[in-house]
Amino acid sequence: RVVVVGSFNVDHVWSVAKLPDTGETLAGEYHTGPGGKGFNQATAAARAGADTVFVCALGDDIGGQLARALATADGIDLRDAHSHAPTGTAGIYVDADGRNCIVIGAGANASLSPAFVADQHDLLGSASAVLAQLESPLAAVTEALRIACAAGVVTVLNPAPANAVASPELLALATVLTPNETEFVALLGRAGIDSPTADAIGGLGDDALHALCRRLHPRGSVVVTLGAAGCFVSHAADALRGDTSGTYRIAAEPCQAVDTTGAGDAFNGALVAALASRPGAAFAEHVTFANRYAGLSTEAEGAAASMPRQADFQARFGP
Ligand code: ADP
Repeated sequence: RVVVVGSFNVDHVWSVAKLPDTGETLAGEYHTGPGGKGFNQATAAARAGADTVFVCALGDDIGGQLARALATADGIDLRDAHSHAPTGTAGIYVDADGRNCIVIGAGANASLSPAFVADQHDLLGSASAVLAQLESPLAAVTEALRIACAAGVVTVLNPAPANAVASPELLALATVLTPNETEFVALLGRAGIDSPTADAIGGLGDDALHALCRRLHPRGSVVVTLGAAGCFVSHAADALRGDTSGTYRIAAEPCQAVDTTGAGDAFNGALVAALASRPGAAFAEHVTFANRYAGLSTEAEGAAASMPRQADFQARFGP
């Protein structure tokens, strides 16, 4: 079983010709759908085949009802802290070039507490893998990873969004860290490690990238996702039992990307699903699965809604 700890947001998205200036009123095409990094990742894990539990905080409102209905439809077991605050929301403007502006109303997500997470002790301690992000209160995320680590459960921490500041203790609790280029540079900066800018990360040689990963996360593995360039893996031998260390790149799958929103979420959900379903397999196999799954997710619009189902995955890549 996989346990995902994180956020649920109702995304409100306006497609606009250009992003609005201060004081400006614009019209745009509107759509809404489920999002939040935690829920996107839980949906990906479930659709990738994992028995998935999602630990979250929802409001007693229409957003909370949406989350419950969608979780039921995907067979996700919700552990909801039931908040009095409104369910989380995100207001998103996207311009014709795909640039965006986003405002998050954390709402109920902000009330996910360490005490509620501690109540899930048995669930976390008996999981095959635990996955979290930084879009929830960091004390709650830290508690979840602490419980998992103490029980010897594999933990994956997606250090997103980039502006959230994880403590060194929280980072050290991750068996695997999965930053994108922006998040990787932010983590390095906070750790006082010199690095190039985010757009230059993918162009670094493997040795240089590996050295940065080892300094950032000496005892664990790091997977840096590189968008359309796939990902880079710096795997530490002792992080996952029974597997050897390695440094390698995995190229992205050739895809007809129409919407890369949530690609990183697809990657993380699929990675824990793979870790849980084939615990003895080589790490490279798990990452290859995640890379393919994330690539396929870019071929559909939406965040949680665009997560591929197992049948779609198998139709594309085989069983
Ligand atoms: P984030 O969504 O967090 O910014 P990335 O952009 O790095 O994350 O994408 C995560 C993963 O999604 C990549 O490692 C890759 O596997 C896949 N991916 C993203 N964009 C594409 C693309 N254009 N074509 C194929 N795969 C992609």
